Amino acid sequence: MSTQIESQPSCADPFDPSSIPLDEALRRIAERVQPVHACERLPIRECLGRVNNEAVKSPHDIPPHANSAMDGFALAHASLAADGITELDEIGTAYAGKPFDGEVGSGQCVRIMTGALVPPGSDTVVMQEQAEVGADGRIRVDANHRSGENIRRAGEDIARGDIVLDAGARLNPADLGVLASLGIGQLQVKRKPVVAFFSTGDELVSIGEPLEPGKIYDSNRYTLHGMLARMGVDMIDLGVVPDEPDAMRATLADAAARADLILSTGGVSVGEADYIKPALAEIGTTEFWKIAIKPGRPLTLGQIGASIFMGLPGNPVAVMVTFSQFVVPAIQLLAGTEIRRPALFRARALDAMRKKPGRYEFQRGIATQDESGAWQVGKTGKQGSGILTSMARANCFIVLPDANDGVEPGDEVDIQFFDWSL
Ligand code: AMP
Ligand code: MG
Repeated sequence: MSTQIESQPSCADPFDPSSIPLDEALRRIAERVQPVHACERLPIRECLGRVNNEAVKSPHDIPPHANSAMDGFALAHASLAADGITELDEIGTAYAGKPFDGEVGSGQCVRIMTGALVPPGSDTVVMQEQAEVGADGRIRVDANHRSGENIRRAGEDIARGDIVLDAGARLNPADLGVLASLGIGQLQVKRKPVVAFFSTGDELVSIGEPLEPGKIYDSNRYTLHGMLARMGVDMIDLGVVPDEPDAMRATLADAAARADLILSTGGVSVGEADYIKPALAEIGTTEFWKIAIKPGRPLTLGQIGASIFMGLPGNPVAVMVTFSQFVVPAIQLLAGTEIRRPALFRARALDAMRKKPGRYEFQRGIATQDESGAWQVGKTGKQGSGILTSMARANCFIVLPDANDGVEPGDEVDIQFFDWSL
């Protein structure tokens, strides 16, 4: 008889042959998730953070007319002598919004303010600091000027017909300004994805209820609320669902009828009370189960009717890690925009980090800049997947790829700053 237990693959192993790599998981998400179809027309202020539906072309030139980039004097370059000083007669003033009514002839100039239309007959603005007013009131200008200087040409920012906003673009504050500069007051954007979420676990109680022995407060629905709010989706909080197959099935069916994306936390490992998998198998389909990352190995992608289901792990840190790596891209695709992976920055490690090769690890770090401006990163203490304060104190993930076999202080590592926006 054997004196040793032959152990099954588990999250204690650095490498599990049945788990899929992170990139593979992202590929499968991209294959599965379709953008929402419906759109709505909204005043542009309400389009901030929303996804543009159709490319927007400029109806006119910006700026619409040539105007001055400086306070100074508008003149015809041909009026200036090739050498020495030229004296010009000032015949009026052009203000922003109040054009000079007349034409600038040879030997004449017009006092001009920034943003004022360049008067007919002039093609050059000499800034006031480079001109002199003579005792007789005439304007003295030397020969060191280029034809066309200090003039913003019509259409130099945007030409009529240029695409100013691509389909699928996420509207940022500058986009709102660009649309306003074109006189566009409304825009057609994709409707917001609707995301339903719930926690599973008989040990969970909600805030306000007494904590009896063995119980803990549900924190995952709060981190999810925070991350989803930053993503700009519509949320349906379905509360805590007990570890019972019927309750799980009923909640999933209800969520599928109302949401584009369903998120659950907990109940996706291989414990006896992990009922997500069988419930999903009954009313939907399942895409994958284990991803070679830490924390967050058990993760499910599935479909119930037209809704995408993502079963996140129960551990609070694993919830935030898997959300940032897999739920964010799924929401980006649903919202009708491209997957935007967070940028990686190189940083010098301040601490040693233990790691075995075989899976991607997301440790929690505090990144700061040293005197030379280079990034350096330290750990936020204990890195267990239940230690949520490691996330609360951190400003970045320290991303250790599959092959990494540990970090010594001074080593270069990749960091990924937290960014919970769409
Ligand atoms: P599970 O995946 O359901 O086995 O949960 C893994 C661990 O995460 C357990 O220690 C759970 O008690 C804990 N956990 C699960 N859901 C939550 C939650 N919503 N809030 C806080 N801890 C949780
Ligand atoms: Mg559980």
